[in-house]
Amino acid sequence: MALKITAECINCDVCEPECPNQAISMGDEHYIIDPDKCTECVGHFDEPQCVQVCPVECIPVNPDRVETPEQLLQKYRRLQGRR
Ligand code: SF4
Ligand code: SF4
Repeated sequence: MALKITAECINCDVCEPECPNQAISMGDEHYIIDPDKCTECVGHFDEPQCVQVCPVECIPVNPDRVETPEQLLQKYRRLQGRR
């Protein structure tokens, strides 16, 4: 699954530079995650980096984007330009 940022986000800015896929950007009211770019950090790190640094724990999984580890790895490869 991709992750998502909820309205609990306090716009502290710390997660955005940590994302290896540039999936995090500022939205209208708070930071958001592009589900087409979020691999849950699969391919880069063992743990989601944004979750590790978020001080208010507002980054749950996105229930609209259920993906298997294999699909996340395929997304990673696509983002890297490898197929
Ligand atoms: Fe980026 Fe990883 Fe967070 Fe997804 S889980 S938004 S890839 S830092
Ligand atoms: Fe929002 Fe958490 Fe990212 Fe800070 S680390 S901007 S609170 S999602």
